[in-house]
Amino acid sequence: MTVLDSRPDRPADGERTGAGGHPGVLISSGGVSMTAVEDLGAGRGPAWLDAWLLANAADVQAWFRHVHANPELSRQEFGTTELVAGLLKQAGLQPQVMPGGTGLTCDIGTGDRCVALRADMDALPLTEATGLPYAATAEGACHACGHDAHTTILLAAGLALASVADELPGRVRLVFQPAEEVMPGGALEVIEAGGLAGVERIFGLHCDPRLEVGRVGTRVGAITSATDLLELHLTSPGGHTSRPHLTADLVHALGTVITGLPALLSRRVDPRSGTVLVWGAVHAGEAPNAVPRDGLLRGTLRTGDPTVWADLQPLVADLVQSLLVPTGVGYDLHHRRGVPPVVNDAQSTVLLEGAVTAALGPAALTTTKQSSGGEDFGWYLEEIPGSFMRLGVWPGEGPMRDLHQPTFQLDERALLTGIRVMTHTALAALTA
Ligand SMILES: [Zn+2]
Ligand SMILES: [Zn+2]
Repeated sequence: MTVLDSRPDRPADGERTGAGGHPGVLISSGGVSMTAVEDLGAGRGPAWLDAWLLANAADVQAWFRHVHANPELSRQEFGTTELVAGLLKQAGLQPQVMPGGTGLTCDIGTGDRCVALRADMDALPLTEATGLPYAATAEGACHACGHDAHTTILLAAGLALASVADELPGRVRLVFQPAEEVMPGGALEVIEAGGLAGVERIFGLHCDPRLEVGRVGTRVGAITSATDLLELHLTSPGGHTSRPHLTADLVHALGTVITGLPALLSRRVDPRSGTVLVWGAVHAGEAPNAVPRDGLLRGTLRTGDPTVWADLQPLVADLVQSLLVPTGVGYDLHHRRGVPPVVNDAQSTVLLEGAVTAALGPAALTTTKQSSGGEDFGWYLEEIPGSFMRLGVWPGEGPMRDLHQPTFQLDERALLTGIRVMTHTALAALTA
């Protein structure tokens, strides 16, 4: 496999990718100091990747800081899309912006075989409180989930791969996805737009603030959980509380569902699945002596088990019906399915683990636990096999600043470890 061989004759390819020569537009904004990022995988090869990173590490950091300083909320990622598309075009590639105007895909190389690498691009509606010199200045948007790093890593891995495009044994599709932070998530738009057409396997990563930089966590099976939203509207003719037998007692019916549905679920679903229903909102009535005419109940239903998730909707519908029919109230149940768990395929995970070891050495690899959070990468894995990994971004000392907090920040060395791992993953999957 040519591109994996050491090729010291090849020059650093900054000129050809367009990445080395003209990043001034990015660096010029706001006194960013361009200290080089340490490359924890330096010298591990292949030689062209070492050379590309050496030549472009400062640009990688500049792109990251630019995206970080300019966060965009879900489906508003126009500037980020333009930046990524522009740099890919400079490298002679042909990015395809998605129909909604944010997000893009881009193929590198030629041939029938195709594997995909995915990044998400959106920020969260929080105001940054890191105090970093390149912190986002606008209120109400910040990259507290590390999608700025995901975007930068994929962009750089793509440009590095583009420097050896002619020698790739197939195509690598870069998927820059919009709107991961909202339900049901931009992954469905990518799939609808044909983003997975012809793709054998797909891989992605997420920053992990509890894992030290230089390390990567993998797992076979479910690595995140499913989250559904439940909304139940109840109706009754209403009436005097002295005569409940002449109407339907709506508040009593609400109470029956509030306690009854979680209780029944706990007896109908395998308790090892981590399935939990928690109500977050309940509204009904005003006067102490009047039966209200309508009521509302809202909550989230989570599970760590994909087979349980597949059966939850009809089960919940059945149980709600059994609880409410005897009460005589009318009801309307909205069960909005959120995202499925991300279920990592065994074979893809073996490929991924091989790539991590090749990219960063055997000590980099660790296993990771299933989280109860959601991640819309799960939609891709409902279509094709693949694997999702956790990228260590904790500096190794000091506090572990959690995701979805305005204080979240990452060790920039993780940008380079991420690029190395993503690049190796694409090569491993194409040669499998
Ligand atoms: Zn998030
Ligand atoms: Zn995220």
